[in-house]
Amino acid sequence: MPEGHTLHRLARLHQKRFGRAPVVVSSPQGRFADGAAAVNGQVFKRASAWGKHLFHHYDGGRVVHIHLGLYGTFTEAVTPLGLPVGQVRMRLVGAEYGTDLRGPTVCELLAEPEIADVVARLGPDPLRKDADPGLAWSRINKSRRTIGALLMDQSVIAGVGNVYRSELLFRHHIDPYRPGTHVGQDEFAAMWTDLVELMKVGVRRGKIVVVRPEHDHGAPSYGPGRPRTYVYRRAGEACRVCGATVRTAELEARNLFWCPDCQV
Ligand SMILES: [Zn+2]
Repeated sequence: MPEGHTLHRLARLHQKRFGRAPVVVSSPQGRFADGAAAVNGQVFKRASAWGKHLFHHYDGGRVVHIHLGLYGTFTEAVTPLGLPVGQVRMRLVGAEYGTDLRGPTVCELLAEPEIADVVARLGPDPLRKDADPGLAWSRINKSRRTIGALLMDQSVIAGVGNVYRSELLFRHHIDPYRPGTHVGQDEFAAMWTDLVELMKVGVRRGKIVVVRPEHDHGAPSYGPGRPRTYVYRRAGEACRVCGATVRTAELEARNLFWCPDCQV
């Protein structure tokens, strides 16, 4: 599943491609036909992201809310676009570029004030300037759930997925099974600061980069073009730092990866 940096990158891209000009919006597949008709021909004001949620803001106070889920993708092309291929939920066409959205979990029309209802369910997003890490800390500090589960909970921190979760805990030597109540405030503060920096790198480079140069050796994590990681998808391989065998286990239906020696 795309993590928060991907959505912020899409928001920037869409703003650059379509911002402040009228766009043609359609739903070739038909499932977003009414929503598309409501914003078709309107001025695309701006795009924004909060965690894994993307918002297209239109003149007149309408907003298209998108969550890619596991399978959603945007495919961009220069205009004129060819005939839609496959199940295109939304086609957005500007002067020079167009993009096709396929397979999202959510693609819905909202009124601007309804964004607050979506955001109310989300924790602070490390990539937003208005993020308040104190909200995440107050939830973690009170919870007996494991820190590994808490970091994946979008109502605690918005935008963190499995790769950033596993890697952040490794970088801070924290056992993913430690309860939230046993994470120190200084440990949380250091993790948050690191997460903000790592996710900014993710936005800038368009991929997750978490391995420090001095540890960037050995076998790739799991294939070309995928992130090099300390532990994510490296189960059974040697820890890049201490040589112990990286472990994996299922936690709340997602695979967790950690080094039993580096993380306590
Ligand atoms: Zn290790």
